[in-house]
Amino acid sequence: MAEKLNLRQLKVPVTNLLKKVFSRERFTANLDIAVGEHGVSEKSDRGDLKLEVWLESSPDGIRVKGDIQGSVSLQCTRCLEEYRQDLDIAVDEFYRRAGLSTLGGDGRRLADGEIQEEDEYVIAEGAIDLNLLLNDAVMLSLPIKHLCTEECKGLCQWCGKNLNEGECGCVREVIDPRLEVLKTLLESGEE
Ligand SMILES: [Zn+2]
Ligand SMILES: [Zn+2]
Repeated sequence: MAEKLNLRQLKVPVTNLLKKVFSRERFTANLDIAVGEHGVSEKSDRGDLKLEVWLESSPDGIRVKGDIQGSVSLQCTRCLEEYRQDLDIAVDEFYRRAGLSTLGGDGRRLADGEIQEEDEYVIAEGAIDLNLLLNDAVMLSLPIKHLCTEECKGLCQWCGKNLNEGECGCVREVIDPRLEVLKTLLESGEE
């Protein structure tokens, strides 16, 4: 089960905004975010990842438009060191009024507790939860491979030294994994 951000500061009350249709409000937050194998988490309560959006009310809900800029902390899958990844993400999403979510996309009335789409953004208890938006935006914008540099040498498989910091002295043969299978077969034949 992936962890997700659940920061109170990102639960933004919008009751007043909804009362004045077509009005808008600025919302900003500075965050310090790490992305690990379990998802997104907060490192400290202030960092250089900046969420800057306009919240615009309409009869159906709140449009959230702006950007997420700065960097997040990642762990390199080869050398296991932490590194920073720059992000610059344009955001344009819509949080629907909760009342409207009782109708499905086909106009059919949904049963109590039934949710039309699991990851849909809905206004709940007079607030929009920007944790959802931030999670989705960050996870979708990251490269599939988390590498500190494209050339990262990783760790020595014998002594564990980070080879980006220099040679360890272990004698390493570079063997193609496909040839490794052949070598094992040959060695077992020798006995
Ligand atoms: Zn690395
Ligand atoms: Zn070594």
